[in-house]
Amino acid sequence: MSYYQIDGIRFWLGLLLFVTLLGALGLGWVVQSLLVIFLLLLLAPILFILALQIWLRTRVVTASCPVCGQVSTAIKEQSFVCPACGEPLEVRQGQFVRLTPPGTIDVEVQTVD
Ligand SMILES: [Zn+2]
Repeated sequence: MSYYQIDGIRFWLGLLLFVTLLGALGLGWVVQSLLVIFLLLLLAPILFILALQIWLRTRVVTASCPVCGQVSTAIKEQSFVCPACGEPLEVRQGQFVRLTPPGTIDVEVQTVD
């Protein structure tokens, strides 16, 4: 057994003794609250990163520009300008579409029999 292993065992034994002592003194709640705080501190950044990743996955769309084909990333429901050609674009159903100029009415083509 190396020196470091013995040192590690001594640390854990000391911690165990400390926890047992606190428990014997009726201070088990101190250990529990410390453990909870420790876990929260440990989990908070992980949860934050996970939430951010989920948010990005649902909010960010990667697609290609319908005008020049440049692949770029945009946030949903936000209009933006293509970094390559400067075309004003919008995210619609996971795809980039050209912004329809205001006042333009979409006309459905109807065939008359
Ligand atoms: Zn473009």
